[in-house]
Amino acid sequence: MINRIMLVDGSTASREVLIRRLQVAMPEIHIASCATANEALARIAEERFSLITTALLLPDMDGLDLCRKIRSSKRYRYTPVIVVSSDADQRLLHEGYNAGVTDYFDKARGFMAFGQFIKSLLARNAELYGRILYLEDSKTAIASTRQMLEGHGMEVVHASSVEEALTLLEKSRQTNEKSFDLVITDFHLQGQMTGGDLLYSIRVRQHYSQQELPVLVTTGTEDSKTQVAVFHAGANDFVNKPLVEEVVMARVRALLLVKFQYDTLRRQAANLEQMANTDALTQTHNRLYLVESGETFLNQQSNGWVIIIDLDHFKRINDTQGHLVGDQVLIAMGRLLNQSFQDGLPVRFGGEEFVVLAHGASIPGRCEAMRNAVEALKPGGVEVTVSIGLVAVEDQAGKDLNSLLGLADKALYAAKEAGRNRLFIYDADGHTVPYSSFDSA
Ligand code: GH3
Ligand code: MG
Ligand code: MG
Ligand code: MG
Repeated sequence: MINRIMLVDGSTASREVLIRRLQVAMPEIHIASCATANEALARIAEERFSLITTALLLPDMDGLDLCRKIRSSKRYRYTPVIVVSSDADQRLLHEGYNAGVTDYFDKARGFMAFGQFIKSLLARNAELYGRILYLEDSKTAIASTRQMLEGHGMEVVHASSVEEALTLLEKSRQTNEKSFDLVITDFHLQGQMTGGDLLYSIRVRQHYSQQELPVLVTTGTEDSKTQVAVFHAGANDFVNKPLVEEVVMARVRALLLVKFQYDTLRRQAANLEQMANTDALTQTHNRLYLVESGETFLNQQSNGWVIIIDLDHFKRINDTQGHLVGDQVLIAMGRLLNQSFQDGLPVRFGGEEFVVLAHGASIPGRCEAMRNAVEALKPGGVEVTVSIGLVAVEDQAGKDLNSLLGLADKALYAAKEAGRNRLFIYDADGHTVPYSSFDSA
């Protein structure tokens, strides 16, 4: 979600400088500005802002009174409000907290520091909006809780039975786009299944961990037996009914934070794994990945092939055009292989040598087409050709990936010997034959 900042300052010059500093520090954010408090109040009622800054003296209102008015709106009860003042005014120290000022920026620190100040504040106060699956069967509770959650920017999807909630969860998992960030459920429900059954299903059947899908339970009783039961069932936390807005929202935020930190970690782990398996220059898989996953990939389907592709006279390209041009050729080659073998597993085997694992009777023909495509490629105006060696897995019963690579290398050697820019196949009889005389039948 993109951060939107509202900046209130009566001076045009001051507004311009402050906006500029914010844009430099955070190029991705949206900034709106107003010269008067009343303009600002109208604007923030229409649009949602994640942070508001104001001068202490405004043409139409005292800055602290503006803060009080902002705070009195439900929507902005927790939004950071920053006072930008020319000196650390005594009034700020005495009245600021009660007026709802989150912090103040002393202009004496310089405009450069302003951008960084707001940036780090936003990072710490990131607003937490989530998509909540809300299970409740009491009509009056539904209306007021939904209103409370939506008032804080949450997206609420209501279910009135455990079965309905489970269907919604299942659907969100399958479509894999709009997932839920939090479940809020009543523990005691009228139907056959209770909140405990929902929790059991979420944790045990669907294997959602407490970080992946936090669950907040609402209960009508304070007795400790129920509380223990709630935690045993796998809830992250509970709140007592009648719901107190501040208490519910504090819990909701804490749980959303858990969920979002989990999401971030998972994204980072996926990125790291991707990086660990990818060759940085060519963006094909790297040799480590081939060693770890090649055999499994090959055995997934019938008609597997092991292909080795070696650039011809690559040393000459480096020697005459320079290493950087050589790198560009390798990058272009990687792109071509990734495009040509999306169903296969293209790998940079080392230096200017690539391996592709792929399946299908058409593979020799597709490799020959790829060889022609390389000839036509001329990356950066450089003429390049490749020699290719192939072996069919099913022609060499019982051979492991390493042995198959050795046989494909024999075919590659034959292609080089025969004059390069050609494709040879190591056949079932142990002969290396050129593509032109290979009988695929
Ligand atoms: P052949 O047709 O027999 O394969 O000849 P060749 O020159 O391609 O083969 P050789 O194995 O003699 O040379 C491979 C060259 O590839 C040598 C090496 O400097 C170059 N090379 C290996 N990795 C890289 C790289 O990452 N970038 C660049 N620019 N060159 C590389
Ligand atoms: Mg070589
Ligand atoms: Mg070579
Ligand atoms: Mg080589």
